[in-house]
Amino acid sequence: MAHDLSAHIPFNMGGLERCERERTNALWLIEQMESPKARFVGLHNLKVAMLTHPSLSPAYLKSAEVPIALENNMTTLFLGLKGDTPVFAIDVLDQEAAQLQDVGYSFIDVRTIAMQMHGPDLAIIGHARSMMSWHLKNRYCGNCGTRTLILKGGALRKCTNDDCAMEYYPRNDPVVIMLAHKGEKCLLGRQHRFPPKMYSALAGFLEHGESLEEAVRRELHEEAGIHSSRVDYVSSQAWPFEHSIMIACLAEAAEDMLNIDKEELDDARWVSVEDARAALAGDPEAPIAVPPDMAIAHHLVRHWVESFDDSQKK
Ligand SMILES: [Zn+2]
Repeated sequence: MAHDLSAHIPFNMGGLERCERERTNALWLIEQMESPKARFVGLHNLKVAMLTHPSLSPAYLKSAEVPIALENNMTTLFLGLKGDTPVFAIDVLDQEAAQLQDVGYSFIDVRTIAMQMHGPDLAIIGHARSMMSWHLKNRYCGNCGTRTLILKGGALRKCTNDDCAMEYYPRNDPVVIMLAHKGEKCLLGRQHRFPPKMYSALAGFLEHGESLEEAVRRELHEEAGIHSSRVDYVSSQAWPFEHSIMIACLAEAAEDMLNIDKEELDDARWVSVEDARAALAGDPEAPIAVPPDMAIAHHLVRHWVESFDDSQKK
């Protein structure tokens, strides 16, 4: 396939130079932080400091705007260089968050922003949220319980107990999201919390001791009761809730008879190419709706519809 689908999926393509080598140098990191060019993505309870006027955009704060967080040595993570601008994520305290709100910034849940933003800025605030979320949950060593320390601008945490010295790398939780298909139809399901008519691709966490292919087949069998044969990787999405990587696959279903796990799913059904196409177009007459463009499920369904159309032309 000629084009890279992942380049068009929200939360991907932040375009930061992560400076893998330079970030091992603590002095270089301090220089970056003290540079007048340095900018900070402010987070408070994992909500991101934003400007809402004239348009919704991240508040790339200057160091003078987050003095309390800097003085208190709050979690500060080097995300990378945007051109020659060092970009950091910083966790701000209640008092500072209130002060920033007083001067016109808003702290907003990234999930609610994602439908209204695209491009590198959305990817950068997603990156900031994802990394901050992991760091705030890993302040203590899982091996001995001692405090851990940020190294390499956040690319590593290390236990401060010299006898232990465990190292922890920020991790992503892999999620497989898959569209089973059979002939002219694909399998979509709805969770109990979905809005009316909304159907999406089935998904689940990759478990230990299994490949992506095994996880795809297991989830399809557990949730919809179907077996599947060939599994093809399609694309992926950096997903900042909480710190995941969504791995989208197509799976060839071996049968159409469904046996739905009603605890996991409210419903699942086979959807025709025509109905999927109408749902992607947002047609109010379509029998189902699919998730919006911010979700990789949307792109996965579109990819399947386009692949089906291409196969008919041959
Ligand atoms: Zn330890």
